[in-house]
Parts: sequence; C-alpha cells; structure tokens
Amino acid sequence: MSARQPLEFPAWPQYGDEERAGLHRALEQGQWWRMGGSEVESFEREFAEYHGAGYALAVTNGTHALELALEVLGVGPGTEVIVPAFTFISSSQAAQRLGAVAVPVDVDLDTYCIDVAAAAAAVTSKTRAIMPVHMAGQFADMDALGKLSADSGVPLLQDAAHAHGAQWQGKKVGDLGSLASFSFQNGKLMTAGEGGAVLFPDAESHEQAFLRHSCGRPRGDRTYRHRTSGSNFRMNEFSASVLRAQLGRLGGQIDTREQRWPELAKLLAAIPGVVPQGTDDRADRNPHYMAMFRLPGVAEDRRNELVDELIARGLPAFAGFRAIYRCDGFWEKGAPEEAADAIARRCPRSELLSAESIWLHHRTLLGTAEQMHTIAEIVADVVAHA
Ligand SMILES: *Cc1c(COP(=O)(O)O)cnc(C)c1O
Repeated sequence: MSARQPLEFPAWPQYGDEERAGLHRALEQGQWWRMGGSEVESFEREFAEYHGAGYALAVTNGTHALELALEVLGVGPGTEVIVPAFTFISSSQAAQRLGAVAVPVDVDLDTYCIDVAAAAAAVTSKTRAIMPVHMAGQFADMDALGKLSADSGVPLLQDAAHAHGAQWQGKKVGDLGSLASFSFQNGKLMTAGEGGAVLFPDAESHEQAFLRHSCGRPRGDRTYRHRTSGSNFRMNEFSASVLRAQLGRLGGQIDTREQRWPELAKLLAAIPGVVPQGTDDRADRNPHYMAMFRLPGVAEDRRNELVDELIARGLPAFAGFRAIYRCDGFWEKGAPEEAADAIARRCPRSELLSAESIWLHHRTLLGTAEQMHTIAEIVADVVAHA
C-alpha cells in the first residue's frame, strides 16, 4: 500500500461553466430576490419536473423546508410527529421548533430507515405526520408507509435530504403522493452552500407554504395584506441559479455512484466484522448520499478511534449519527414524556447504528473502480487491527 499514490477522490462540490454562467445571469438581472427575478421560479419548475411532483418551493435550507412542510400539515403545539431515532437532528428539531412533540421510533438494521411496524405502534390521536428519512439515498419502505398512512389517516412527509433523484419502483420522490423535503447544504447531492426545497402533490398545500415562507404575503401584494402567519424562508436568486446547474449534473453523478456502490459494498461485505448498508430492490434508483457500513459489536469509543484511523489513511470518513434521544438538544423542547432509557430500550437497532456505523463521503463513490479496492483494503486493514 505504501507504493500507492496518495488517495485523491473527486472534490465536492463540483462546478464549472454552467454555475459561472448562472451566477452571472442572476447578477446581471439586477434583481437578486425571487420577487424580482426568475431564477428561483425556474429552478422550482425544473426541480418539480425532475422529481415527478406537481409543485416545488425553494427555501433557505433543509431544516426550514421540514419546518414549513410540517406546518402546512397542521403540526403545532399539542401534536406529535413520528421520526426515526437514527437520523440527522433536523428531522426532530423541525417538529420541536413548531411546538410539537417529536416521537422517535426504531429503524431497520439493514436499510437504516424507519421501521414501519414501530411507526404504526407510535401513532396516537395527536399524530399529525410520519417522517421517513431515506437514509443515505436508500428509500424507506414507501409501500408499507403508504398503507400505514392510508389506514391511519396520518400524512407522510419524506425527509429526502439524502434522496435527490431517487426512485421507488419507477416513481420519483415527488410522485409518491406525499410532501417531500430536500436540503442543498454544502455536502448534499446538489448544493448552493445552503438551500432547501419542498415538493407538493397539490396546488393548495403549495400555496399555503408559499404564503408562510414569505411572511404570509400573497404574490404581487402592495398593501401589506399578510394572509397567514409565517417567516422569511425565501431562497435568493444566486442560489437558485447555481442549483439549476447542479440539477444538470445530478443524473450523471448518480449513474457513477450507482456503478461504484455495488462494487464497494461487495468488497466491504467480504471483510470480517464489516456489514455494508443493505438495499431494497424496490428502490430502483439510489443516489447514494453516503457510503455506509457498520462494525457489529464494536464499542462507540473504539468506532470513533477507527474513524480517526480511516481519516489518517486518507478516507473522508465520519461517525454515524447519534440517536437523536442521546443528544442534549433533543430534550430541551418538544421531547416525549418517556425517559431516554425507555426510548433506548424500544430502539435497539438505532442504539447499534449510533455506536457502530461509519460513513464515507459520497465523493468517494465518484472515484475510480480501482479506488473502491483501495478503500476496501484500508477498511480491512484498520478493522483487522481493531
Ligand atoms: C442535511 C439534513 C437535513 C437538513 O438540511 P440543512 O439544509 O442542513 O438544514 C435534514 N434532514 C437530514 C436527514 C439531513 O441529512
């Protein structure tokens, strides 16, 4: 291995003349907010179409996108939102910011996505939304969730912050009959540094969200008629111009990652003590936001040391998410009355993932086939000395 070149994966974010042209276009418009320019509106149209959705609304970031979508679904004080325990904290924070209670439920140990039976068991008369997170681009079981939603009358909000361009049995994220939320933060699969979007199946919920994301003010208003409560979650024209270019790159990048992940997963699966994230065959396009695996039986502190070793060996490696109920911030506002230990007992798989999982930045999956072998060699070597 010492004879090898230092590992160099493609940089992220990727950009070129399309982004430059977009920024120039936005600049020369002379109007840099959505009310005066056309970039945000064009981006919304293109993003909705790409994802098979009726409508899209671009916003400031992915956390605000979740907040806005939940608000449109009627989430507020006195209500509950069911979220997977193993996710990035925005999933629960968005509900908690609205004054609702976030109820964590366990995930599947193969796909790392919400366990539908656990979600069903958590539904109460106060539940206003169930939020599946398509972890690392792997779809949650949308068939079973669709059925749960129909049976219980509780709407779904897909947290698709990892799932730009994903497909479930030929259907895009926006074509599954529910709201979906995206992030365009620097590391995400399309980015303008920060940014977010919500997809809507119908005009009415889109219009509600539009009002609320712009201080309750209708389009073209000149007399300050703020029809709903709200805030300012508007995306600016520069971000949208970059995202239009990024959307153009997405398909090709997904093709590459879809080629690389099965190669890497196969190599990782052959290493004793390493189990890569599984796939569900019904998810027929996986954009691969993270290359994830776990080390069954490893203690959390040891996992963290191994991540450091992987980084020292040239891999962009990270510890998996901490179960949300293990974060102090989760308990500040909008936590269930259940104690943390009780939640942990009914979320054993989130406990494991939170201690044992590791992920590699998706730019590794834009590397060469040979680099997949190098990654696996490094992981094998580091784990063998664990
Ligand atoms: C990144 C992320 C978000 C939040 O997006 P921001 O744009 O960073 O606010 C929400 N949910 C998940 C699962 C994420 O990974």
